[in-house]
Formats: sequence, C-alpha cells, structure tokens
Amino acid sequence: MKVLVAEKCGFCPGVRTAINLAQKTLADDDKVYSLGHIIHNEDMVNQLTKAGLSTVDSIEPIESGTVLIRSHGATLVELDQIREKGLKIVDATCVLVKRVQKIARQLNEEGYKVVIIGDKDHPEVKAVVGFAKDVEVVAVEGDLDNISSSNKLGVICQTTQSPDHFADMIAAISRKGFSEMKIINTLCRETMSRQTAAVKLCRQVDVMFVLGGLHSANTRKLAELCKKHNPRTYHLQNWAELDKNCLSGKTMAGVTAGASTPDDVVEEFVRNLESYEPA
Ligand code: SF4
Repeated sequence: MKVLVAEKCGFCPGVRTAINLAQKTLADDDKVYSLGHIIHNEDMVNQLTKAGLSTVDSIEPIESGTVLIRSHGATLVELDQIREKGLKIVDATCVLVKRVQKIARQLNEEGYKVVIIGDKDHPEVKAVVGFAKDVEVVAVEGDLDNISSSNKLGVICQTTQSPDHFADMIAAISRKGFSEMKIINTLCRETMSRQTAAVKLCRQVDVMFVLGGLHSANTRKLAELCKKHNPRTYHLQNWAELDKNCLSGKTMAGVTAGASTPDDVVEEFVRNLESYEPA
C-alpha cells in the first residue's frame, strides 16, 4: 500500500510543551495531578499515568502536591482554589489559549459582550468563559437566537475551530444587526495548517486516516473536514482499531493526525499500512 503523510500533522507546540512539562514535573515532584486529561489522547495519558500522573476532575480530593494545568487552561475559580489549598501550580496552558482568555477579558473591560464560537463543553471554552464576566458560547447559527441583546459585540473563536466555520458564523452574526462588532481572530495557525494539509492530501488518496483521540476537538474537526472531501475517511486512535476491510481494493492511503497524537502512534500506523497487502 502506498502511504502519503500530511505535510503538517501530529503534536503541536502547545501539546509538546504540556507533555514536556508533565514529564519534567513527574521527575521532580512526588504527587502530581492533572486537572482533567493532560491531552486528549488515551495512549499518551496512559503513558503518563504509568509514570505517576493522577488525573482528577476537581481540586477537592487533592490534599498536597503539584497541579498541572493542561494546555486547554483552567478557570480563574479553579486557579484560586488551587492557590487557597497551598498546592503548587505548573501551568502548561498553551500561549494561544492564554491569548484567547486575555482577549475575552479585555473585550469585556472595553464594554463588549463577548461571544465565543466553539463547543460549550470543551475545557478551553469553559476556561475562557470563567476568565471574563460576560461571555456567551455559540456553536452553530441556531445558538445566535439566545444571545442577549447588546450594542457592542466582541467575537472570538475556540482555537481549534475551522476558518470556514468561523467565517460562516461571522456572516450569520452580522445579519443579527449589532451596531458595533469587534472581531478578533483567535484561531490557532497550527490547527489551520493541519487542516489545509489534510484536505489537500485526502483529495489525492483512495482512503484517508485521521489519527487521534476520539474526544480531541482538533482531531474531530480534521476528520469532519476530510470526510467532506473524501467520504472514505476514518477517524481512529491507532493501528489496533483499524478494520482492514476498509483497505480492500485500495492502493493509496493518506494519513494525518491531530495536534495531540504522539509521533510514535503515527509512525507505527504508517509502517504497518505500508507493509499491508490488501486482499
Ligand atoms: S492546537 Fe494550537 S491552541 Fe491548541 S494547544 Fe496546540 S498550539 Fe495551542
């Protein structure tokens, strides 16, 4: 099987920094906790769990030790709770996520109601909501009916949304008649370049594989985009999940991976696929 790998895929700088910080903290400190999964990748989380990282949903059960803030960030309330308990903080929030948090707060201070285009249940979005006073989340056009009225609207976006969706939502918001809109592009370039490379590749191949955590927003977005351009697109976590029947009659496969997918997962997948002889 001929296999082509997307020009840009796999670990982004934000995730790489978070993993490095986690490994360093585990080597230096005794009790290390991550508030939510450090990244949305089961293989990597299992690896770090084996090295001693405990993942918790809330700060309450932690009595002592170090709390690692993942690349998606944490809310101000959570950060205050950690400080109040006298726990050590290792902050691995991605600089681009911090930028979104800062912008949301600045827009509020300038008198704008803030709308973030994204998934309300995603930890990055939850952290942004918790960072500023007046932020509403909209995922799709229908959600715009719920925005409470305001003359001044500030619009930002979850870092991993696609530029097309951002543009569609901006167009829909403009039709709502706000007299003043301030739009700040908070999309992550790393995510965008992965999306562009994946779309380019999936158009050239018989079958396309998107590797990464099933809960990873950026991986799911990659799979969604590829599916639009190549219906024979499969989102998998690793080689073990591949149903070989989908390779039948195919000669050229494309592979891409989300920003939280480790290099060795991609390398193993490509190696196995290259040596696979479909029936
Ligand atoms: S995808 Fe972008 S915003 Fe998210 S952690 Fe990576 S570099 Fe940061």
